[in-house]
Formats: sequence, structure tokens, C-alpha cells
Amino acid sequence: MILDDIRIVLVNTSHAGNIGSAARAMKTMGLSKLYLVDPACEVDSHASALAAGATDVLGNAVIVDTVADAIAGCALTIGTSARSRTLSWPMVEPRECGEKLVAEAVNGPVALVFGRENSGLSNEELQMCNYHVCIPANPEYSSLNLAMAVQTLCYETRMAFLNEQPKKVEQDDAVYPSSKQTELFYDHLESTLLDTGFIIKQHPGMVMTKLRRLFNRARPEDAELNILRGILTSINKSTK
Ligand code: SAH
Repeated sequence: MILDDIRIVLVNTSHAGNIGSAARAMKTMGLSKLYLVDPACEVDSHASALAAGATDVLGNAVIVDTVADAIAGCALTIGTSARSRTLSWPMVEPRECGEKLVAEAVNGPVALVFGRENSGLSNEELQMCNYHVCIPANPEYSSLNLAMAVQTLCYETRMAFLNEQPKKVEQDDAVYPSSKQTELFYDHLESTLLDTGFIIKQHPGMVMTKLRRLFNRARPEDAELNILRGILTSINKSTK
């Protein structure tokens, strides 16, 4: 399962409520692998209260000492930053971030790393990432609450994941004519237009090609093609 290979890493989080809310944000989007790097708070009842129905994600959280431990084995790591140019580094938009995580999680674990509430990620931690992602928020107030940043980027990940799934072919009850019937219609149309003088035999031009393109685009159903044949027959009768 692709989403099971996407790790959400929270570094040095100081508010238990943020850890719980992040777990909830993850679960709503189908993610479950939470890594806590040296949390600066207890993962206590306050965390479980805000995790609500996502206490399983919280309970399964892996606690490690360093970012390096959390991203061990990941072929792709994306770091988050509230500022777009913390240091010049390859940047991705949130949408592309989701697409990259989903595309690469097919081959093995990948990670999305979030920083401390007060100071974000250190330069050293940011430099462990392949890309940085910044949610393009209000430039005058661009720092989201940690769990809300987790929600936003997990949502983009889910959208990318859903787009990857083979789309259900839309139910189409219409009955379409066979190519043979369609060809008969074109023959009938052409002979009728020759009769009425709309097409001149010596200079037929591109009319039939353009009409074919029109009808092929519209894709008349069986019953609709019968109406068109009926119209042609009525013209044939009146021009006799
Ligand atoms: N004062 C810190 C803000 C940290 S906000 C700073 O300037 O870096 C806590 C965490 O939430 C950040 O480390 C990041 O992981 C996430 N976050 C907040 N706003 C974000 C944004 N606009 N784009 C991406 N991540 C964001």
C-alpha cells in the first residue's frame, strides 16, 4: 500500500496537542506512519484527546533520536519550511510534493519532515532533504500551525494518490452504432448533399471530411443516427 510507505516526521515538537492533531490529520488522509524525533513533550492524554479517532496512529508512532534515524531507508525526503528561501535548495510546490511522495513511495519509504513550533527545521536538518516544500501562504503571515501544515500537505498527498488510482470507467448505457452503420450514414449524407447541390461532384472540397469530424466528435447514439437517417430520407423524398 503506497500510503503506508509515506512517513510523517515531526522534529522536537513541544506541544502534545500538535502531535495528537497531526496524527488525526494524517489518518483522515489515509496516512499512518508517524515518526517523532526527540519530542520535547510527553505524548500524553492531551495528545490522545486531540488525536480523537486516530489514537492508533499515535500509539504506533516511532520515537527516534535524530532526523537521520527517522529518514533511514528513505529514498526521498522532503523538508517543510514556512519561508520559501530559507536557503537556496530545490523547491517543490505542495501539489508536486504530494505527487513526488506518491510516485516514489511505490518503490519504498519516503519522508515528509516538519519542524519545531518556534524555530522550524535547522539548516543542517533541511540539508538532509532532497527538496523543500513551502505552503504558499500569506507572505505577511506565512507560518501555519504545525498540525495544520501537516493536514495541508497530507491532503495534497491524498489527492495525488487518488489521481494515481485507475479511474472507474463512467457508466455509459448508450448504444452506439457500428462503424458499418456510421459509414452507411456518411454515404447517405453525401449522396443527399450531391442531390441537393450542396456538394458539387467535380469540386467536392473538404465538406465530407469536416462533417465526418463533426459527427465523430458528437458521437451520435444509435437512436440519434436513426433520426439523422430519417431526416435524410425525408429530404430525398421531397427532392424527388
Ligand atoms: N518560526 C518557524 C515556524 C515554524 S512553524 C519558522 O519560521 O520556520 C512549524 C512547522 O510547521 C514548520 O517547521 C513547518 O514544518 C510547518 N509549516 C508552517 N507553515 C508552513 C508553510 N507555510 N509551509 C510549509 N510548512 C509550514
